Amino acid sequence: MKILINQERLAHTFVQLCETDSPSRKEKGVSDYLTRTFQDLGATSIVEDNSAQQTGSDCGNLIISFPGNRSDQETIFFACHMDTVEPGCGVEVVQTGDIFTSRGDTVLGSDDKSGIAALIELIRILQENRIAHGPLELLFTTCEEIGLLGAKALDCTRLKAGYGYALDSTGIDRIITGAPAANKLRIEVHGIAAHAGLHPEQGISALCLTANAITKLRLGRLDEESTANFGLIHGGVATNIIPDHITIEGEVRSHSLQKLAAHTAEIQRTFQQVIECWPFPPSLAPTALEHPCPSPFPPSLAPTALEHPCPSPFPPVALQPSMERATLGHPCSASQAPTPLEPLCPSPLPPSPRNENETQALDFSPSVTINVQLEYPAMRLELSDPVLARVKEAGINLGRTLEFQVAGGGSDANIFNSFGLPTAIIATGMDKVHTTDECLDLKDLIRLTELLFAIVVA
Ligand SMILES: [Zn+2]
Repeated sequence: MKILINQERLAHTFVQLCETDSPSRKEKGVSDYLTRTFQDLGATSIVEDNSAQQTGSDCGNLIISFPGNRSDQETIFFACHMDTVEPGCGVEVVQTGDIFTSRGDTVLGSDDKSGIAALIELIRILQENRIAHGPLELLFTTCEEIGLLGAKALDCTRLKAGYGYALDSTGIDRIITGAPAANKLRIEVHGIAAHAGLHPEQGISALCLTANAITKLRLGRLDEESTANFGLIHGGVATNIIPDHITIEGEVRSHSLQKLAAHTAEIQRTFQQVIECWPFPPSLAPTALEHPCPSPFPPSLAPTALEHPCPSPFPPVALQPSMERATLGHPCSASQAPTPLEPLCPSPLPPSPRNENETQALDFSPSVTINVQLEYPAMRLELSDPVLARVKEAGINLGRTLEFQVAGGGSDANIFNSFGLPTAIIATGMDKVHTTDECLDLKDLIRLTELLFAIVVA
């Protein structure tokens, strides 16, 4: 079937959407645009849910229904998120040939407005050409970029669809069939403040404790299924005050729930053990040569078990039967690790006479508070699932080879799948997302729209 996409109109819609501000929690401008647009296109139902109470957004998720005219087809849904990352306000789209970018001082917003523009064009061409199709539901969520909040607050019983597609990934002609689960970690290290010039002995630097723990951690790619990162750090008051409170925030992701738990536990243990190993006042910290563990390497360069000169600070990890020891990958082998009863790390300082200035610090022990939350569950679809079979057939009908891949990102689709609503992720052509270099090729947007059309008429 020839698909009559109006390329100029599609480009215009995309630009209008990008130039409508919708940072997370302020999606109302886009929500109003969609409401007007789909009213004009004859949607039979436009519902804004009450998720705003939970998300703090200025609007709820939008669920828009088109009943279609083919009773032999089941209802399917398409989902996009309305919010964009910062800097995302005041976007001015620059079109150079087929390539859309921002002026360079904001993101473009193709994440996820490329998907939204394609959906609007899809409905327009279905109607203009009186194409027979089954019932469609369009779901537009809020606050995806700040923790999938809109999706999490969605009452999924509002959807009639049995499965659907989230349009939200880089690349084109690419279908994401699996994504990892993620734990979010918030770690607060408490030391004691003191004047750094007058009474440094009285302080316990929460920053040094945090740094000490971080250097003992493995971060980045942990194994073929898992990653870890700390991306935020807050704390400190002034250069002349020893910081008494540092908060760091990070995440662990894994396609394996067992590994997710093991890697998260490893981070928790490391922080707890560093705190237990105090005192090592930074003012008396040994030099690199004296330090019993000379490894100053970032985890990616950490020596192997054989090379590592100091015992692991970790107690042996309780390995699951299915879990290879190697996958935990600590540079010191677990068999070398001391038992929890042994001193977990040698104090870098020999006990030394202390003067009275140290009394306050000695009366106070540092502490750590670790909060772990499951940010989103993993998703995994099988090629035989109807949701994948349908898009595969659509690809064949278009004469395209679609790539089916497992990816490392989490998105609204993780949440929809956890609701029992099979959801595959379709790449929209968006590129360099979450940067001011974000761009989109109009040819990819057209390819996406063609694929959506093929899915609907499949
Ligand atoms: Zn996105």
